This record gives sequence, structure tokens and C-alpha cells, in this order.
Amino acid sequence: MQKNVTFSRDFVCEKFREFYQNPINEIPAPLSIDQREFAFLLFKERAMIRHRSVAKISWLRSLFRGSVPSDVYHSCAYYENPEADMGKKGWLGADLVFDIDADHIPTSCDKIHDEWVCSTCSFCGKGPTPETCPSCGGLKFSTKTWPCKRCIDSAKGETKKLIGFLENDLGFEEKDMHVFFSGHRGYHVHVENEEVKQLDTIARREIVDYVSGLGLSAFEGREEAKNQSKKNPRGFLVNDSGWDGHLKEGMREFILNATKDDLDRIKVKNQTILQNKNVILKRCLDEGRWDSIRGVSISSGGVWIKIAKHVRDLKSAKIDTVVTTDIHRLIRMNGTLHGKTGLKKLEFPIGRLNNFDPFQEAVAFKDGTAKVFVSSAPEFRLGGKVFGPFQDQEVQLPTAAAVLLICKGRAEVKE
Ligand SMILES: [Zn+2]
Ligand SMILES: [Zn+2]
Repeated sequence: MQKNVTFSRDFVCEKFREFYQNPINEIPAPLSIDQREFAFLLFKERAMIRHRSVAKISWLRSLFRGSVPSDVYHSCAYYENPEADMGKKGWLGADLVFDIDADHIPTSCDKIHDEWVCSTCSFCGKGPTPETCPSCGGLKFSTKTWPCKRCIDSAKGETKKLIGFLENDLGFEEKDMHVFFSGHRGYHVHVENEEVKQLDTIARREIVDYVSGLGLSAFEGREEAKNQSKKNPRGFLVNDSGWDGHLKEGMREFILNATKDDLDRIKVKNQTILQNKNVILKRCLDEGRWDSIRGVSISSGGVWIKIAKHVRDLKSAKIDTVVTTDIHRLIRMNGTLHGKTGLKKLEFPIGRLNNFDPFQEAVAFKDGTAKVFVSSAPEFRLGGKVFGPFQDQEVQLPTAAAVLLICKGRAEVKE
């Protein structure tokens, strides 16, 4: 089997080389390329090569053709000396970047296609990887995830919400925002302009908290203030803009459509809200008399807080918060291949988000087929064709499908 693993990696490396050698796949240059740090993972040496700088995109393109990277990254930061050690680079600023990855979004299908094995005791399970092994308490796992359409679609939904916050609430312009398919299980959003460049970690944290709906004044102090006066629900959703507005709008929708099951789900026992919905909407949401209905209060654990929190969870954007606050972060380079899938990281216009299809548009290998032995794979669609499910079987597949399965550790090339 070991021989097949090496053989398979060589096969994928060769396909990546062909991709980078084909002039049709011209890799676009990031803004101010000479101020960025570059990093590569090569097929040959498996270690990450960091702290490289490039003066021109043409240098990089010829490097890819010769050395064949499995993954290419550049800093979101701009430096005086991108090649220097971390402390001596001379930070000049950084793009504001967001990573929306299916790993951070719970989906019902992750139990079907994701697996983990404890590296210490080999205990294994399906679904999201636990923090500690339930059997031995170990912290290291090998995982198998899958770039599933439903998972990537849920990442797309979060990306839409994020862009809504950036554009409507925070006032970023569409021309400064760039959306990318990550090449694996999600999307990246980069904001590039002179103002965001200078934001420090704390300012970026503020933006993260805002889009995540953390620290909202609506909930502030209410956790502790159990005995707050009913006649003075101070400052609860007083605005029609920002989060106050989003919460009100969401609460209106919730109340209009609410059933007993919906209330049960968010642990609201008092069912007054199901009767006379219009009176409640008028008095509470329109006139702000939140405590005017008997038994429907704002205090901690109160009905309004429970509904508002539920709405907050629906409306907030689930992003990888660490990526955005890290002003030295390395991010995958646009146009390059993802070593876990063989798909491209690819930019597309924001207006196309609804219709963008990564399994069609990010496919890098258009020609040829390969015979592979697949250990296991769910049904999947790639380049307009449907494949699988497969279980311990030999199949002849188009190159893109074969590369995907090999990269995901689900298949080997047959010699
Ligand atoms: Zn274990
Ligand atoms: Zn899924």
C-alpha cells in the first residue's frame, strides 16, 4: 500500500505541474506583491517554506512550474522586508480577511461524511472532531472531511450574511471587497483599502464581534440583572438600524411564523405570544413597550431575551474569528490549487454569489482520466457529472475526480 501512496502523490504532483505549466492558468498577482510574505508547501519536501518575497508575479509563476507547490499562501500583511524574521519585517498594514469554513458551521450531514481517528488510541467516530478523545483523553486526531455541497452551501449562506454586515452596517464599498471560493470547504472575503490596512488587532476584534453578534447592548447586563425593574427595560432595542434593527426584524418574522414547537425549541414555556400576535407586535416591537404583556418580560431568561438570542444566532455570520484578528495571517493565494482537493481558490464577482458553483467553476483539471481504487467516498458531483458512492472498488474517473479522491485520502492510483 505504501508504494501506492507514493505513486498517488507523484500522480497528483504531476497533474499540479501540468496545471501550473499551462499558460491558460495564469495566476493573478495580489496587490503590492513585493510587500507580501509568501509561503509554500512543496510536494517533494513536506515542510512549509516561509518568509519568501517576490518582486514580480512572473518569478512566482516560473517557481510553480519548477518546484510544484501543493499549497501556496501569502501574508494578508504588507511589510518593508517580507523576507526578514517575524519581528523584523516592518509591518506596514494588512488586508481585512475573513474565512468562512464549513468546519465552523454545524451541519446535519457532517455525521455522514466526516470521520476522525484518535492518534493515540485509534478510537474513531463520525461527525465533528471532538476536542479530547472520549476514550483516552488524547488531543491529536487524524480527520477525514469532505467538501460536500450542503456544507459549502451553508458556508455560502454565512458569507452572504457577512457581506451584508460589511456593506450595509459597516459601510465598506463593494469595490473594496473580494470574494473567493477557498478551494476546499468555504469562502474567503478580503477587504482591501487604505483605511482597513491600518486597523490593529483590537479594531479587527471589534469587527469580528459585530458580525458575530457578540457583546450586543441588547443583552448587556441582562444576564445578571434578574431583578431589573419591569417598568424600566432600559435601552432594549431602541434603534431601527444596526443590530437593534436586525433583531427587531428577525423577532417580527419569528413571532409571525411561530408555532408551539418553535417556542419549545428555544425553551419558552409561556405561550401568550402565540395568541394575539398582531397586538404583541404593535405594542412591543412598534411602540417599544416591551414589558406591557403579562408574563412576557425582558429580564434574564425572559421571553424577549430568548427570542432575541435565537434571532442573533440566526442572523450572525459564522466566521473563523482567529483568521480576521491575526494581522500577520497567511492566506491561500488566489488562482492556486488546494492540496486537499485539487480545486482552485477562485475569485468571482460578489453579485454572482448566489449562482456560483465551485464544483463547476473551480475545477482545474479538464482532460484525461485515471484508474483509481476508492476505499470510500460519498456521492459527489464535479464538472457537471455525478460520481459514487464508492466503497472498496476500482473505477476509471475523470482526472479532476480522481485527484479530489486521492487528495482527500479516499483513493489510490492503480499502477
Ligand atoms: Zn484516544
Ligand atoms: Zn455536508
